[in-house]
Amino acid sequence: MKYTSTRGQSPAITFTEILLGGLAPDGGLYLPEEYPQVTRKELDEWRTLSYADLAFAVMSKFAPDIPAADLKAITQKTYTPEVYGNARADSDTSQIAPLRTLEPGLHILELSNGPTLAFKDMAMQLLGNLFEYALGKQHEELNILGATSGDTGSAAEYAMRGKRGIRVFMLSPHGKMSAFQTAQMYSLQDPNIFNIAVRGVFDDAQDLVKAVSNDLAFKAKYKIGTVNSINWGRISAQVVYYFKGYFAATQSNDEQVAFSVPSGNFGNICAGHIARMMGLPIAQLILATNENDVLDEFFRTGVYRPRGTAQTFHTSSPSMDISKASNFERFIFDLVGHAPAQLREFWGQVDAGGAFDIKGTPYWDALPGFGFVSGKSTHADRLATIRKTWEEYGVMIDTHTADGLKVGIEQRRSGLPLICLETALPAKFEETIREALGCEPERPVSMEGMEKLPQHYEVMDANVEDLMGFISWNVKA
Ligand SMILES: *Cc1c(COP(=O)(O)O)cnc(C)c1O
Repeated sequence: MKYTSTRGQSPAITFTEILLGGLAPDGGLYLPEEYPQVTRKELDEWRTLSYADLAFAVMSKFAPDIPAADLKAITQKTYTPEVYGNARADSDTSQIAPLRTLEPGLHILELSNGPTLAFKDMAMQLLGNLFEYALGKQHEELNILGATSGDTGSAAEYAMRGKRGIRVFMLSPHGKMSAFQTAQMYSLQDPNIFNIAVRGVFDDAQDLVKAVSNDLAFKAKYKIGTVNSINWGRISAQVVYYFKGYFAATQSNDEQVAFSVPSGNFGNICAGHIARMMGLPIAQLILATNENDVLDEFFRTGVYRPRGTAQTFHTSSPSMDISKASNFERFIFDLVGHAPAQLREFWGQVDAGGAFDIKGTPYWDALPGFGFVSGKSTHADRLATIRKTWEEYGVMIDTHTADGLKVGIEQRRSGLPLICLETALPAKFEETIREALGCEPERPVSMEGMEKLPQHYEVMDANVEDLMGFISWNVKA
């Protein structure tokens, strides 16, 4: 199987060839030429597999160029419950991504039991092992450069720590992250992890990353790469847990389900779309946004209108605070029937700061066939949902999962089992939990007192020469 770009102007290449890269050379995103299909016989066989074996079965379809024995070793190494971690004390520790049933037909899929207490670990942990494997084969090195306001940076660092051939240079706004997030990242002492606290805000850190990435000579000389949310390896690894959730919530492969997904960059729900295109019986993909509702607006009105950063709200579900959804292009490519010229026209409008509107086109008529519905929530909704879930079921959920649960219950078709993806644990968002419930969220034992550990970071002005100097010094050293 080969991968091509949504913009249609890059050559088709293999999984291993796109794994370490970002955008395609023509500026598009990579997708398989055709989605691999899952037969009814395979579904029946997969139903009882462990998470590691399921991950192997699904990833084999996306990465046929990795020898089966190697891929099997990588998925086992990543998804063994004792290795992966289990942050929630009352979870089923024998499983990866256990399903928690709130009441018959209403479930939460626990995706946040990994090392950084967010679902991003599910894919990122696999990516760390895939990167180490691919670089080892090519006798290559990679220096990952990124900017974070919290979740992505910590997931990347915990996935890449101690990996041979990989260094991580992660920029974050100095003094702007929560004490928990700061401690989670800065307390890492691994010699291949470099935390850089930039004097400024997140956008200053992001601009520095862009400036370095635009210096092609520097980028090539120092083997600079990224692990942002458009990475195909991450998307494909996320497909696995849709299968896991489906099998756990149903008795047979004749049943249909609904998934609700707290969404930001459209990476998580894009994986659900792909699982559905492969043949998993998903009747509804329920997309939940917070006040930053660019995606909800599209599914309701047909208009995709990215906001400026100035119109992006800071909310109590901050990992969904996006102005544009970087993976959305993948879905639109499928919606327009793999017509790159149409896609280039739409993104020409978006990249020029505008919008596009599919209302009145055949694409609008095709949209319901993809199973998406959407909704949004507010801070008050999140507080109410956290309270209700705690009072009725004795389960504490975080603010993002609350967005998903609220919209999921509103939008589900009656009779369908609803599986809400848990994208973070409440321990990450203590302040809002206190506001909703008047008590502290439980923390994994291993993270108690984390804020008191010694911290390891470099403070830097938002200056690109300083950053390049720091990278070149540490890469050579
Ligand atoms: C990243 C993140 C999201 C959004 O996921 P996307 O793949 O960007 O749509 C939602 N919730 C949490 C907690 C996250 O960290």
